Amino acid sequence: MSRIAIVRKKAKLRALLGIRARLVVLALILVCPLMLDRVRLLEATRTAQLAAMANELSTLAQRTADAEREVISSVEAVLKSAAYVHAAAAQAGRSCSILRASLRVDLPSIRMLMVAGPDGVVHCSTSSMFVGSNISDRPYFRKALETHDFVVSDFLVGRQTQKGTILAAYPVSAIDTGEEAVIVAGMNLDWLSDMMSSLAGRAGVNAALIDGEGTVLAAPPDERSLIGKKLDRLALLPAMAETPQGRSSITMRDDAGRLMTVSRIPGTSARLVVTVDENKVSAGINHDIRTAYLQLALVCLFVLLGALIAAERLIVQPISVLTGVAKKFAEGNWSARVARKRLPSEFVPLARAFNAMAAQLGQRERELVASNSRLTVMASMDLLSGLANRRGLQSRLDFEWMKGQQTGHRLALMMIDVDHFKLFNDSYGHPEGDACLSRIGETLAAVADQTGGFAARYGGEEFCLLLPETGIGRALQVGELVRTTVEQLALPHKTSAFEHVTVSIGVACTLPSEHASPAELIEAADAALYAAKHRGRNNVVEHGFIRASDGPVAMAS
Ligand code: GH3
Ligand code: MG
Ligand code: MG
Repeated sequence: MSRIAIVRKKAKLRALLGIRARLVVLALILVCPLMLDRVRLLEATRTAQLAAMANELSTLAQRTADAEREVISSVEAVLKSAAYVHAAAAQAGRSCSILRASLRVDLPSIRMLMVAGPDGVVHCSTSSMFVGSNISDRPYFRKALETHDFVVSDFLVGRQTQKGTILAAYPVSAIDTGEEAVIVAGMNLDWLSDMMSSLAGRAGVNAALIDGEGTVLAAPPDERSLIGKKLDRLALLPAMAETPQGRSSITMRDDAGRLMTVSRIPGTSARLVVTVDENKVSAGINHDIRTAYLQLALVCLFVLLGALIAAERLIVQPISVLTGVAKKFAEGNWSARVARKRLPSEFVPLARAFNAMAAQLGQRERELVASNSRLTVMASMDLLSGLANRRGLQSRLDFEWMKGQQTGHRLALMMIDVDHFKLFNDSYGHPEGDACLSRIGETLAAVADQTGGFAARYGGEEFCLLLPETGIGRALQVGELVRTTVEQLALPHKTSAFEHVTVSIGVACTLPSEHASPAELIEAADAALYAAKHRGRNNVVEHGFIRASDGPVAMAS
C-alpha cells in the first residue's frame, strides 16, 4: 500500500473516531454490560425454571411408582388373607358370606373384591354387579392359575364399569392346593387421578397414562378427550423400549425436542408419559427475555441518540461557534465576540480567553495601523523643513493630477532652488545652512497656506510648490510672491552678489490629461528653473516662453 493511501486511510479513521463516535462508544460501553447482565440473568432464570420443572416431574414419577408399590403390596396382603379366609370358609360352604363379612371393602387400596372359580365365573363379590361375570379370558386370571402366585393385571378397562382399572389376582391354590378359586381385587386408583389432577392446567405440560399399545388409559381432567385414543406409537417407541425394567422412569427428548418422562407402572405394561414443552413452560420468561432484548435495543438506540445529541450540543456546536468567530477574526473582524450564553459552562473560560485575545489583537491592530500611518506620514515628510518630502510631493502631485483630469482645472508646479547655497554653506557652515533651509521651508509653508498650494522639499536646497486649480498667470504671481518673501527675509549671504539669500523659481502649468504625465510637469518646471538660473538667479521663469519685459519673470524654452 502506498504512503498516500495509508495517510488517506488514517485520515478517514480519524474522521470516524471523531468526538461523536467516541462518545457513542463510551456510552455503549457503559450501558451494554448492564443490559447484557440483565439478559444473562433472565437466561439463567429460564434454565433454573426448566431444571425445577424436570426435577418436579421426576419426583412426581417417583411418587407414582411409590404409591403403586404401596398399593400393590397392601393389595397382595389383603388378597392373601382373603385366600386364607376363602380356603377355610370353603370347607364350611359359606365362603362368600364369610368373605364379604370379614373383608372390609373400604380399604384405601381396594375398590372391590371378587372370587372366581377355576372356570372364570365370578360367584362371589363385594359388589353384586360382578357376580356371574366371566373373567376366564382375562390374562391375569389365567396367569394366576398357571403360576399359583400373585398377579397384577395390565391396566384395563372394566367390562361392567367401563372405567380404567388394574386388577390383582391371587389363586387360593397358592396356600391350599386343593382349592382352585382365584381371589381378584380391583385396585383403588385414586392416587392415579390425584396425580393426573396435579398435572392438569400446566402450560406446556402434557400427561397421559398409556397401555403397552400406546392407548391412553388416563389423562388429566383437561385432557380427558384423549382417553381411549392411541398416541403416536412411533414417537413413543423409543420410550417404551428403553424403559428398563429395573428403573421406574426414564427422561428423554422426543422428536419435537420436548422433554419426555416415561414412568413404568410396576407390574403392568402401563406407562405414565409426561411431556414438557420447554418453550411453552418458559413462555413467560421467554417473553421477558424478548422484552429485555427489545429494551436493550431501545436503550442502545436512545443512548446512541443521546450521545450524538450530547456530543452535538456540548462539544461540536461550541467548537463550531468558536470556529465561526475565529474565521471572522481571520477576515479582520476583531469586533466579533463569542456569545457565552450559547455555550456549556466548561467552554466559558475558553470563550472568555478567546474574546480577550480578540480584544487584545484588535487593540494591537489599531496601534499597528496608527503607527503605520505615522510611519507613512513620516516617510513623506522632511524633518528639516517640516514640509513634505519628494515622496510626499509625488503622491500629492498624482492625486492633484487625477483631480485635475476629472475637474478640467489646470495644475501649476514651481521648482524653487536656493541660489549659491554651496557658497552659503562654505561661508556660514552646514548647521547655519540647515537653519537657512528651515527658514525657507517655513516661508514656503506660509505661502502655501496663503495660496491653497502644497509645499515640499524636493531635495537638497530645492523646494516645490504645487498649485491646484491654478493657471499660469496666477502661478507666476505666486512665484513672484515666493521670491520676494524669501528676499525680504533678508538672510545675509555675503558670498552672493545679492548679499542676501535668494531663490530662483521655474514655473510650469498644464491641463492634466491622460496624454501627459506628472513627471513631464516636473521636468518642465525643472527646465524653467534651469532657465532661471541661467538668466542670472533670483528670478521667476515660466516654462515655454520668455517675457523679458516682465523683469525678473522670464520664459524657459
Ligand atoms: P546654484 O545657485 O547654481 O544653485 O548654486 P548652488 O551652490 O546652490 O548649487 P549646487 O548644486 O552647486 O550646491 C548645492 C549645495 O547645497 C551643495 C550642498 O552642500 C548644499 N546642501 C544640499 N543639501 C543641504 C542640506 O541639507 N543642508 C545644508 N546645510 N546644505 C545642503
Ligand atoms: Mg540645486
Ligand atoms: Mg542652488
